[in-house]
Amino acid sequence: MIKLRFVHSLLFFKAICFFLPKIAARGGHSDYIQPGDGNASFHGTARHLFAQEEKRPSVELTRGYMTNADLEKAMKDFTKRCSKISRLYSIGKSVNGFPLWVIEISDKPGEIEAEPAFKYIGNVHGDEPVGRELLLRLANWICDNYEKDPLAKLIVENVHLHILPSLNPDGFSVRRRNNANNVDLNRDFPDQSLVTFGCFNTYLMSQFFPINEDLSLRQPETTAIMNWLREIRFTASATLHGGALVANFPWDGTEDKRKYYYGCPDDQTFRFLARLYSKSHRNMSFSIEFEDGITNGASWYPIYGGMQDWNYIHGGCFELTLEISDNKWPRASELPTIWEYNRKSMLNLVASLVKTGVHGRIFSLDQGKPLPGLVMVKGINYTVKAHQAYADYHRLLEPGKIYEVTASSPGYKPKTTSVWLGENAVTADFILIPEASYGGKLLRSSCDCSYGQPLLLTRFFTETNNGITFALVVVVAFLFFLLQRRVRSNLWKQRQSSRRSTTV
Ligand SMILES: [Zn+2]
Repeated sequence: MIKLRFVHSLLFFKAICFFLPKIAARGGHSDYIQPGDGNASFHGTARHLFAQEEKRPSVELTRGYMTNADLEKAMKDFTKRCSKISRLYSIGKSVNGFPLWVIEISDKPGEIEAEPAFKYIGNVHGDEPVGRELLLRLANWICDNYEKDPLAKLIVENVHLHILPSLNPDGFSVRRRNNANNVDLNRDFPDQSLVTFGCFNTYLMSQFFPINEDLSLRQPETTAIMNWLREIRFTASATLHGGALVANFPWDGTEDKRKYYYGCPDDQTFRFLARLYSKSHRNMSFSIEFEDGITNGASWYPIYGGMQDWNYIHGGCFELTLEISDNKWPRASELPTIWEYNRKSMLNLVASLVKTGVHGRIFSLDQGKPLPGLVMVKGINYTVKAHQAYADYHRLLEPGKIYEVTASSPGYKPKTTSVWLGENAVTADFILIPEASYGGKLLRSSCDCSYGQPLLLTRFFTETNNGITFALVVVVAFLFFLLQRRVRSNLWKQRQSSRRSTTV
């Protein structure tokens, strides 16, 4: 249906284009802002963001940090020590051939379950090593505590947590921001902010409009991430950076490349998630520079080709960019403190996949099987896909509101239900009826998705036979007609009798 609407829109725009002069510039794929390019004001608050403006950290500073070989050994040792709840795998190799190792933590690692998945990625920029250190500490802390700490237990039992401590081992080994090909990996993702649409340059949610998906143009580290998102359905994620202390959320770029607040369809959800991180952090939310310790990416400084926006648009994954340390490369002796400052935030963010949002499964009525359909929320232009295997979906949303959630699948009648989302997560399963079953017969709805009394009335009028509603309206109108006639008749009789009395 969305596709059909899209085709109509396309034809409409094409028709307009035919009559309009070519006033809009044809740009197609937007230019990336390179370090040092563009408006100097973009750099205003982006203190340590561009490698060219900085000196490389001294060798002295690397003392106490894990080398790439140390990290690999630490990850292998971890999965041996915690083999019950973890596994080690690689998603590819860096330019210099270093494996991009991932630890998966779950009570059933490597298995597909009807559970959400979360990923943490560190060291996207080679000279920001705090994230890779903290991620190893996170894995070890969960392993040491999951039998006694409720939050760790909740994560192990209900989430598949994937941890990639270093996306850029080559950059790390030479203490440089970019990878071995001197490319900034957080500018290397296909950029979908500005595309040519007919005669217009238009901002599009490109899950309807795939563009520039050519993997041969990407760096191997970027390709690995893109392929990873095709294999695993991640609900949310975060990348750990350094150089500031703030939780950054989409969009990262604007249409005109200027700096201003530019919210994505899930702006409220992202603000909630970013705030969850900053408020759980020891001091992030006390920031003087960023209110509540959170920021919209574009309002801070626009970037293009970033991992965060790509995740949301193409991966169905709600990603935050977390700046976890003002100092990009602090002394190793500070790491235990930085870990303690971030520990709760890191755990709470993963646990939010279970503790909040709307979750459920979609089934078909005819076969009773899981139906990997789509889930939409009224007023939010974003689609969440149910998993191919179990048709489970996990829709993160800002708590404290009523949402109209619709499940759909080709060949089935979409079903909508209203959900009051409080502080805790809500389960809403859907059973969809095949379109073919509608042959004028009234089918009994088997949707087990009622949540509260007010909905029953709404559903009665929206989902039951429209003919009954029509008949009720006709009966009420007829009664009103009879009543009106009777009143007129009485009035006429009264006038007659008063006339008679005055005559007499
Ligand atoms: Zn960074």
